[in-house]
Amino acid sequence: MLNCPNCQSKDIGKIGINQFYCWNCFIELSLSKGIINTHQVEEDGTLSSLDDLFEEDERRYLS
Ligand SMILES: [Zn+2]
Repeated sequence: MLNCPNCQSKDIGKIGINQFYCWNCFIELSLSKGIINTHQVEEDGTLSSLDDLFEEDERRYLS
């Protein structure tokens, strides 16, 4: 099961193919090649990457 790299919550909803949403801290997660990419939805609807905040180890998804 996917954990949110930001808040470690397991309260993750699936919103698309390889796309997820954290209901706890309200960020979008997407899976690519075993790495979780994190995005914040801005007020104007654009996505900004939060990947800089995390080490690659923290973003690795072990299925
Ligand atoms: Zn979260």
